[in-house]
Amino acid sequence: GTRRRTDPLSGLNDQQHEAATALDGALLVLAGAGTGKTKTLTARIAHLIAQRRARPYQVLALTFTNDAAEVMKDRLSEMIGEERASQIWVGTFHSIARRLLAERPWLAGLAKGFEIADAAQSRRAVRIAMEDAGVEGHDDRDAVQAAAAVIATMKDEGITPDEASVAGWIGTKYGGDEVPEDVATAAQVYAAYQAILREDNLADFGDLLLWVVKALEGDESYRRDVAGRFRYIHIDEYQDTNVQQALFVHLLGRDHRNVCAVGDDSQSLYAWRGADVGNILGFPDQWTPCRMVRLEINYRSTPVILACANAVIANNKRRFAKTLRPDPTRRDAGPPVRVVGAESLEDAADWLADDIRLRQAECDDEPGTLVLYRANWLSRVVEEALIDADLPYTVVGDVGFWGRLEVRDALAYLALAVNPADADAWERIANFPPRGLGDVAMERIRAAAGAGDLVEAGRRLADAGMLRGVQASGARALADAMAGWRDSASSGGFADRLQGLLDAAGYEEHWRAADDPRADERLDNVAELLQVAREVGSAAALHERAQRAAQAERDDAPVRLMTVHAAKGLEDDEAYLFGVDEGIFPSAHAVRAEMHDGGRGIEEERNGMYVGMTRPHERLTVVHTSTAPSRFIDEIPGQETLRIEGRSWSRMRRRRPSADALAAARTLARTRRRSIPAAALNDAALLAAWTCEANSAAPAEP
Ligand code: ATP
Ligand code: MG
Repeated sequence: GTRRRTDPLSGLNDQQHEAATALDGALLVLAGAGTGKTKTLTARIAHLIAQRRARPYQVLALTFTNDAAEVMKDRLSEMIGEERASQIWVGTFHSIARRLLAERPWLAGLAKGFEIADAAQSRRAVRIAMEDAGVEGHDDRDAVQAAAAVIATMKDEGITPDEASVAGWIGTKYGGDEVPEDVATAAQVYAAYQAILREDNLADFGDLLLWVVKALEGDESYRRDVAGRFRYIHIDEYQDTNVQQALFVHLLGRDHRNVCAVGDDSQSLYAWRGADVGNILGFPDQWTPCRMVRLEINYRSTPVILACANAVIANNKRRFAKTLRPDPTRRDAGPPVRVVGAESLEDAADWLADDIRLRQAECDDEPGTLVLYRANWLSRVVEEALIDADLPYTVVGDVGFWGRLEVRDALAYLALAVNPADADAWERIANFPPRGLGDVAMERIRAAAGAGDLVEAGRRLADAGMLRGVQASGARALADAMAGWRDSASSGGFADRLQGLLDAAGYEEHWRAADDPRADERLDNVAELLQVAREVGSAAALHERAQRAAQAERDDAPVRLMTVHAAKGLEDDEAYLFGVDEGIFPSAHAVRAEMHDGGRGIEEERNGMYVGMTRPHERLTVVHTSTAPSRFIDEIPGQETLRIEGRSWSRMRRRRPSADALAAARTLARTRRRSIPAAALNDAALLAAWTCEANSAAPAEP
């Protein structure tokens, strides 16, 4: 092209320059957040192509997410032009393996044009395999889910169906101890499960890498062929690779050894999914002789933010010591890190929205803002506050609350109840949950209704015998549900009426029985919607909220909401960490496990905290609720503490429920979940934990 290209090496510091130009042999860049690892890796690729050390299609770059791959391609285009950049193999391990498998699908026992099974399809196959084998529990969702998870883990560990026997691998793994039931079941049905997928020409996610790696291991001529295509191999976020992925890299790189890995052990977040931080720490031994480059200057954040991030991560015992130093050309230390305590998540979110608005008014250029949290369910309360404050936002890595399928379904029920001639709403839910109204029946009803009442038109056709059997009963069931809504007009509050409508429609019932991995999340979201209904008190107000949300959610909005996991590698002007409470961040799961996992779970949570803290350029704000601020907050030095005044906040400040009390309380809250909305769940759990603790004679933790 004629576009001006930037020199790949311009602006790199000495260490970065060294890493970008050391092209031959193995290279590890082990360095902290924001030190330019991704920038250096990208510059290195552009440099070696500009130097004609390899053709673009001879270069492989493995990223952790598809988004990261897109960003890297854009940067490469700027440096070496779109034409050449588009030929580089940039992608996640899965997408690269999928490309390779598509060339030889028979490696996985598949035919050309195979597709990827989603989680529900996988579980269906497990269920059928269990049933065929006469294994107990095939009708138990949890048992099926557990066996499916074990099979996925076996694939990530490189175990094929042939190798998965209790006598073999599993026996070794449990070293003579009794093998847990789900593991034994998984081993028993693994081969049948695989056969069922193959019948439908489906691969699951784990298959993509598994069979390619097996073929690379078992067939030397195939390995030479594939390895020979890539002269240079690069891996970003190497700390989150699992054993199979490291093996894949080894099989492809071991002839020429031109392998460059970059990563940060302190940002390892996926141990629960089999990622092994040992891969990055063991890289120099696996690839001896290996050049090591350390980057220490962080170009992203203020000195104050870096000091806080350093102090927090220093509490992790298991880590490769490194410090982040600020950019020496920077003059100011930056504003202090703020820690804000509020009475509840709702109060915290309101304050946060206010503060963002204030910042936007203060600054000439609207600052880009990240709102980061530990788990997706926390987005609802933040979204609510942002909508009230008329602040546009976007939810990254997930659709926003109001765009979620189940929320839109519930709103469609309401819309149809209010106006039975609402064609959009009727289209959406007339046959969802399924009630036998197929395309033909729907068309008849549409024709009979004209511009009028679709619900009554259905009933009329049923009564006239023009719909029969399930179609007739389906049309009547919908009409009955809507009639129930009208009948309840004088008797109940708005939220109760809406709940009644959804009950009559069998909506939540449908998800409770569904074989859908997201069913629990969907039920949480419906519960959240009912909570909002309770707050706003009318159908009109609820629809107005949804509409305002649709306007507030905007792709290019300056405010971006996401989990800390989704934020890895990203940056922006300002960041808020929201919900930094004991039991949320660190998660209740990690708190519970603390007694028997030697604190590993907590250390991984702290890595997440470190990832979150190192995203902003200028300003960092940590928000928690008053009941139980996270232990991580105590680790932040020199913080500016703000309190949203409320009840007995200061009295509770230094106390924290014990792990057991918290666990007990959460179980309690979970079993009553239908009546406790998700956003309140944690508060309820924490409050219950306080009560438990107050009632027990045990001394409070320090
Ligand atoms: P993370 O650990 O979060 O993935 P990283 O180590 O990959 O971070 P980058 O994202 O590559 O770091 O860089 C962080 C920021 O610092 C980017 O805005 C980048 O442009 C900037 N940066 C990196 N190196 C330099 C440099 N030598 N001069 C100026 N800015 C730099
Ligand atoms: Mg990076």
